[in-house]
Amino acid sequence: MDLGIEGRWALVCAASKGLGKGCAAALVREGVNVVITARGAEVLEATAAELRALNPAVQVRAVAGDITTPEGRAAALAAFPQPAQVDILVNNAGGPPPGDFRDWDREAWLKAIDANMLTPIELIKAVVDGMAERGFGRIVNITSGAVKAPIDILGLSNGARSGLTGFVAGLARQPKLAGRNVTINNLLPGAFDTDRLKVTMAGAATKTGQPVEAIAEARKQLAPARRFGTAEEFGAYCAFLCSAQAGFIVGQNLLTDGGAYPGTF
Ligand code: NAD
Repeated sequence: MDLGIEGRWALVCAASKGLGKGCAAALVREGVNVVITARGAEVLEATAAELRALNPAVQVRAVAGDITTPEGRAAALAAFPQPAQVDILVNNAGGPPPGDFRDWDREAWLKAIDANMLTPIELIKAVVDGMAERGFGRIVNITSGAVKAPIDILGLSNGARSGLTGFVAGLARQPKLAGRNVTINNLLPGAFDTDRLKVTMAGAATKTGQPVEAIAEARKQLAPARRFGTAEEFGAYCAFLCSAQAGFIVGQNLLTDGGAYPGTF
């Protein structure tokens, strides 16, 4: 299936590894030019080289910086050939740390809200009107299955991402966006085999004294699919939401969790 987005320009945030990288790779395979960001320049440049090898016909620009800062966002947007000519925006950043809400002060909350709610909103603000003027725009926010079924130790994520989800539900339905072929949707990962998952499981192994393999096996059993998702799969879901064909999918929360969420809806 040709997704009809060859030659478009995408900003994929936090894309040197994991789910963001999976999204960038899937878009590059479709002929989309990408600007990718991450904080560490070295890994980011290596990822950019991998992406160029996937499809030498596209442009891949790497911008090192913290996307949760105004400077990081400005640098990412400045990498586009024309100011803010972003056709596709994939919002992503590192997730907040786990813990107990009794230990979180105002600073901890502001950090989580900045990274997982206000940063995507700022980037949407920077690009969405240009998309509407040009009559094409696709915005995908990487959130979490925690938006649908909260995870007790991830209260910062449950809270900040739900704030983004509520805001986006309203914005996506504005006729001046949806009626101009600009869509905003959220992708909600369950357990995907990325560095973040490995770090979380290593932490659990240390805490419980169990081997990390046992922790991983138990975690896989939580989903009927009995496995973790892959970044490649996640990238393919993202690319479809960014496709020309996906223009009628507006303001949705797509859970990708191997069936772990037990509800009918
Ligand atoms: P990962 O650790 O594998 O990769 C994170 C990427 O984000 C890296 O490229 C890192 O350099 C970059 N990054 C982090 N903070 C950044 C910042 N402030 N500015 C720029 N780049 C930054 O993580 P992942 O598993 O791909 O997770 C991506 C997002 O999805 C996170 O918010 C995570 O909480 C969420 N999520 C992941 C899972 C999962 O199972 N992997 C499940 C639910 C939610």
